[in-house]
Amino acid sequence: MGENGHKVIEIPATLTVRELAETIQASPIDVIKQLMANGVMANINQQIDFDTAAIVMAEFGFEAHPTAAPEAPVADVPEMPVWRRWIEGEDPKQLGPRPPVVTILGHVDHGKTTLLDAIRKTNVAEGEAGGITQHIAAYQVKHKDQFITFLDTPGHAAFTAMRARGAQGADIAVLVVAADDGVMPQTREALAHARAARVPIVVALNKIDRDNANPDRVKQQLADIGLVADDWDGDTLIVPVSAKKGTGLEDLLEAIAMVGSQADIRANPKGKVIGTVLEAELDRAKGVVATLLVQNGTLRTGDVVVAGAAYGRIRAMFDFQGAQVQSAAPSTPVSVLGLSDVPTAGELFRVAEGDKDARAAAEAARVQALPGPAEPRAPRTLEQVFQAFQDGQTRDLRLVVKGDVQGSLEPIVTSLKNLGTAEIPVNVLHSAAGNITENDVMLAAASNAIVLGFSVTAEVAAMRAAEKEHVDVRLYDVIYRMTEDIEKALKGMLEPESRQVVLGRAEVRAVFRIPKGGQVAGCRVVKGELRRNSSVRVLRGDQVVHEGQITSLRHEKEDVREIREGFECGVGVKGFTEFAVGDLLESFTEEKVPAV
Ligand code: GDP
Repeated sequence: MGENGHKVIEIPATLTVRELAETIQASPIDVIKQLMANGVMANINQQIDFDTAAIVMAEFGFEAHPTAAPEAPVADVPEMPVWRRWIEGEDPKQLGPRPPVVTILGHVDHGKTTLLDAIRKTNVAEGEAGGITQHIAAYQVKHKDQFITFLDTPGHAAFTAMRARGAQGADIAVLVVAADDGVMPQTREALAHARAARVPIVVALNKIDRDNANPDRVKQQLADIGLVADDWDGDTLIVPVSAKKGTGLEDLLEAIAMVGSQADIRANPKGKVIGTVLEAELDRAKGVVATLLVQNGTLRTGDVVVAGAAYGRIRAMFDFQGAQVQSAAPSTPVSVLGLSDVPTAGELFRVAEGDKDARAAAEAARVQALPGPAEPRAPRTLEQVFQAFQDGQTRDLRLVVKGDVQGSLEPIVTSLKNLGTAEIPVNVLHSAAGNITENDVMLAAASNAIVLGFSVTAEVAAMRAAEKEHVDVRLYDVIYRMTEDIEKALKGMLEPESRQVVLGRAEVRAVFRIPKGGQVAGCRVVKGELRRNSSVRVLRGDQVVHEGQITSLRHEKEDVREIREGFECGVGVKGFTEFAVGDLLESFTEEKVPAV
């Protein structure tokens, strides 16, 4: 027995929610609920650390002790920051720390832009270049001999758009909350976006200079959304600052550095070069100017870069202060000249082996981007998400839920979560009152989630984004319809049904004998169409007299693949030689579909 009379159980430094549930013989849903109550949004396969597990275990009456068990190999961790995947193949001996890349998120007018400017002003040394300081999408500051890179496009929209393209610009999110205004809708939204990306969060409690600033009240609000201050026994660093007066900035940088070193952000400066396009534009004089954030390897002048359908040899490269440089190490933002086309912001770039490789990759990307039958990159509709689950690509159902009023949202979210099972947990990434926005759709796109709306509509920009990113947006006016859909779908996810789709009907007008004892029915299609590689049912009155594959389908002696309403055709059916004039042929196919 442990100190509190709790039973002692040994657990490793990290374990998945599923493993934790098994260890303490609790249902994973209950464990997930407990985690949520402690402000941790985790799905069943997510790794949680010892301390988090210990808190949950205490709730269940167990005391956690560390074991010396080896940690799970990184490759088994299904959810991790994207950059970890990039360095998977790298020589561990070559991996070294790289500066953290920070994005600033928060509610409108809470001071994101002011904070970015203040940090830049007080910490960026005047450039040697002496030229016009250009404003590029990121800058670096030095804090106690260490660099920190700041993305200069504040807000979760830009951040999540990047994730939707498979990139992840930032390693750490600074959530700006005004001390006089407190936690607001976009604060919650930003938090949901940061959590979905699994980036650590530092809170900047801004406008502390204001008379009506009430830091304790805001800290309580933050605790309510799972960000418990470290001086309140939580693990969130909440730093009081005034962006306007420039106070507290050093403390903020210190907090960022600390969280950065905990996150163990690494790269191989000698490894393969990969990173994210932060912004790009066509300049009349210089051609394509692209700002790139190097995330692994070292980018050099003369390298051939591919970013989506754009590629080219870097002619010249400049740091964020406009000074020409020859190389850029990991976490360094640079603007480069030499690309053929303007790449999309948020897209990944890499250095190609040579011109040929680059051209081929860019061409492949261009073809993939063409509108057409190409598969969307990630599963997006309710049906596709379930299919992905069956294929083992996803382990939970992720939802973004919007409702008309906060009061109606809570029961909806609770009932949706309760639909989840141990095998398929329902993970609500974000829920809020209000119409469905573009940001909601982008969060869903970046996280393979579905957007559900209750008594709300989707904004035009949201619908456009949904179409572009293939996100399923479902609107409901009746709660049980929504839960019923999800419930049916969850069942369908486990056992897809096969559904017959009737393609069309044809009436038999004449019967012909063919060599080798076969028969062909001379038909006229009365509805829909007949397809050669479909099945048919032969109907005589109310009776089905035969079911089988169509073996031949002809129109005026030509073999055809399909035949439409109003046209005549000759139809042969496998193993059937008893056609009669007046029979009806019903052409159908079978589709495996979840029971939605
Ligand atoms: P953003 O929308 O989050 O980027 O917010 P801004 O940076 O544009 O700031 C919104 C307003 O708040 C501006 O009028 C700023 O001058 C003001 N502001 C920002 N930071 C502070 C601060 O620390 N103290 C005070 N008093 N005002 C601030």
